[in-house]
Amino acid sequence: MASQKDYYDILGVDRDADQKEIKKAYRKLAKKYHPDRNPDDPEAGEKFKEISEAYGILSDEDKRARYDQYGHAGIGDDDFNYEDFARGGFGGLEDLFEMFMGGGFSGMGQRSQNRPTRGRDLEYRMEISFEDAAFGTEKTIRIPRQETCQTCDGSGAKPGSNPRTCPKCDGSGQIRVNQRTPFGNMAQIKTCDRCQGRGEIIDEPCPDCNGEGRVTRRRDIKVEIPAGISSGQRIRLSGKGGAGKRGGPSGDLFVRVDVKPHDLFERKGDDVYYELPINFVQAALGDEIQVPTLEGEVKLKIPEGTQPGDSLRLKNKGINHLRSSGRGDQYIKIKVVIPKSLDSEQKELLQKFAKISGDEINPESKGFFSRVKDAFGGN
Ligand SMILES: [Zn+2]
Ligand SMILES: [Zn+2]
Repeated sequence: MASQKDYYDILGVDRDADQKEIKKAYRKLAKKYHPDRNPDDPEAGEKFKEISEAYGILSDEDKRARYDQYGHAGIGDDDFNYEDFARGGFGGLEDLFEMFMGGGFSGMGQRSQNRPTRGRDLEYRMEISFEDAAFGTEKTIRIPRQETCQTCDGSGAKPGSNPRTCPKCDGSGQIRVNQRTPFGNMAQIKTCDRCQGRGEIIDEPCPDCNGEGRVTRRRDIKVEIPAGISSGQRIRLSGKGGAGKRGGPSGDLFVRVDVKPHDLFERKGDDVYYELPINFVQAALGDEIQVPTLEGEVKLKIPEGTQPGDSLRLKNKGINHLRSSGRGDQYIKIKVVIPKSLDSEQKELLQKFAKISGDEINPESKGFFSRVKDAFGGN
């Protein structure tokens, strides 16, 4: 399976890194993880392949642009072939060869390409609304993916003709070569150059796929978005990824969801939070008002004596639980708004209110400094 990690993360570079930075990061990591330098660490080899793939894509501006736009879904199997890369096919490895003194790639590039290979997993990033995440929906996405060529049924040979076994490698896809290195002659197993590791030769390639057996098509695919999904979660569509090679199974398609923020609501788990501004009279006397929910407005009773910061709950007005019944609640956080200016009649009424309550206040008679003095017991 091809790597689904972010290529920029793999190389540890920013998304706007230039080619120089990309190359530098690649060389540093390639040196560190090269399998010849880590003979006892099997993971180094995998890591090295991952780094090489990331570099293979990001060092090519066209592939990089597709990756930036579509993520892994924009990258086809043909865009990166590790064996080609290890042979120096991307032009990025000549200097690495120097670094590792020639023998660098022994032991690599040996995997024969003529056996069935599973198709590529694809990832598609989709942005959905807050409401669609809450209640679920169905979307259609269009993705480029590799499919088995219908004309040749995946064989790569022109209809009516057949591929034949490669005479150079007898169908194994590999050849042995002796190579002169500073350490003497070394036998290396290499991918057969006559058949490029396929083990067979196509004399008359299929005109629709140029002998590849697969073609890239843009497909509309329906995606069921389950209610309750949150940002970062992935929906797996089994077998909807790239077609396999030589009869191998298709890869999977992963749809990664990003939920857009809502203007009014905030989500915490499956509960929804809403801040409601009310005035101090409503808070003191209570009221009945309309408040928004994910499904339109509902009546809310504000009890008498509501305090700033109090939370009121609307049961079952939150987000559906993912793949189970029931749903969260909506919480209404009360924000009491104090008027910034009052006219004289309003002031008079409030003064009267204070007097009745036994709280005599003289807001106009004392300035700031005298109030501070009072507070600290001065005269
Ligand atoms: Zn074909
Ligand atoms: Zn061959």
